[in-house]
Amino acid sequence: RQMRKKIVAGNWKMNETLQEGIALAKEINDSLKAEKPNCDVVICTPFIHLASVAQVLDAEGVALGAENCADKEKGAYTGEVSAAMVKSTGAQYVILGHSERRQYYGETAEILKEKVQLALANGLKVIFCCGETLEEREAEKQNEVVKAELEGSVFHLSAEEWKNIVLAYEPIWAIGTGKTATSDQAQEMLAYIRSIVAEKYGKEAAEDTTILYGGSCNASNAAELFSKSDIDGGLIGGASLKAADFKAIIDAWK
Ligand code: PEP
Repeated sequence: RQMRKKIVAGNWKMNETLQEGIALAKEINDSLKAEKPNCDVVICTPFIHLASVAQVLDAEGVALGAENCADKEKGAYTGEVSAAMVKSTGAQYVILGHSERRQYYGETAEILKEKVQLALANGLKVIFCCGETLEEREAEKQNEVVKAELEGSVFHLSAEEWKNIVLAYEPIWAIGTGKTATSDQAQEMLAYIRSIVAEKYGKEAAEDTTILYGGSCNASNAAELFSKSDIDGGLIGGASLKAADFKAIIDAWK
């Protein structure tokens, strides 16, 4: 059986003009061509960058992703971008359920369930995010919260569909705050997540599921985080905006 994929994924968020984004993608791509990565690399960009960045990425093991997609298939939804439109740019992945989308754009479990379904139906792999607030962690509710997020939006999927799901545990208190979860805290949660995936889809499927950690992961803490047995890589925000930092995180898999 194949070992589960190790992945380092960047999430640019609302940063970079088109020209800046193309330049950043080129720089990352060049560094990966110069030295083949020991993990899969996914670069998730704003919608406007996708088609152009797709033209730039030709290093082995590097894929393109979006940061969101619509919860409707097509039609009169001004300003929205569908999963089919994302896929048509050459993107292979889409991030769904990011805490910023949940918090600032009111994305509920129901909406995310629709988005996940449409993304998979259109041939995209989903990087599905989950994670608790500081308040919830202090109340020791993190497991409950994460389980509810998974039950609410992805645990209805078939075993076949599940193969295209990557999970990302991102404690909200660690996102963009410089406050990383300790590698033990991250490992503990990822092992828990793997155990509930096993209950739902069986032990083999759980062993094959790639689970990432996200939240202030950077060049100096990546190796320690990735040394843990259940941590299959990282979802990287801030540190994905500098090619050298992002490459250093990828290199943490050496
Ligand atoms: C994220 O938002 O996915 C993230 C992990 O951000 P940062 O690395 O900036 O904390």
